[in-house]
Amino acid sequence: MEVKVVQKVMKVNDELAQGVRLRLEGAGVACVNIMSAPGSGKTSLIEVALRALQGTPRIGVIEGDPDTTLDAERIAACNAPVVQINTDGGCHLEANLVGRALGDFDLANLDLLLIENVGNLVCPVGFDLGENKRVAVVSTTEGHDKPAKYPKLFRSADLVILNKIDLLPYVNFDVEIFRGYVLGLRPGVPILNVSCRTGEGVDAWCSWLREAASGA
Ligand code: MG
Ligand code: ZN
Repeated sequence: MEVKVVQKVMKVNDELAQGVRLRLEGAGVACVNIMSAPGSGKTSLIEVALRALQGTPRIGVIEGDPDTTLDAERIAACNAPVVQINTDGGCHLEANLVGRALGDFDLANLDLLLIENVGNLVCPVGFDLGENKRVAVVSTTEGHDKPAKYPKLFRSADLVILNKIDLLPYVNFDVEIFRGYVLGLRPGVPILNVSCRTGEGVDAWCSWLREAASGA
């Protein structure tokens, strides 16, 4: 019985996600769903990209958080249209929330929609939001074993970012072991080393976003 209920919820979400996908496609807007644990630097990665790309492509942002508009305020300070979704304690975004948020954007003037999911390595993965691509972010402070412990996120990722690479000298993070886990789960997936503080890898991150915006 329990299983039936869960399956029904997922089916409804999948249908709503397909609606979001068609609406974005119709408007010529590509969509990227960014997932990670809390504190791995999702918002900072979006900020550095917005500042570096300077409006080409035109990017809108959905910020998912259990509470506050703190991240949305950071994005608005980069002059990007942003909608905050507060999940009221909920631990992931769902397609119905994204569908409602779309009404707050001028889609005709966007090329790319970035969705910062709620910080959580487990359940966001199970909810299609209508995105075209998925990004998984891990920071060097979290430990190189995260892909092994949370494989689902990495199995569906189109890009993996290893963030806070500047902190490597201070933490026990083995990049080779990390890469081995990731590539074992998702052979061939690009893995970018990035530091939002030093700017390392930001060009590559921006190039990837430009390609995502062009539908590549
Ligand atoms: Mg954030
Ligand atoms: Zn959840």
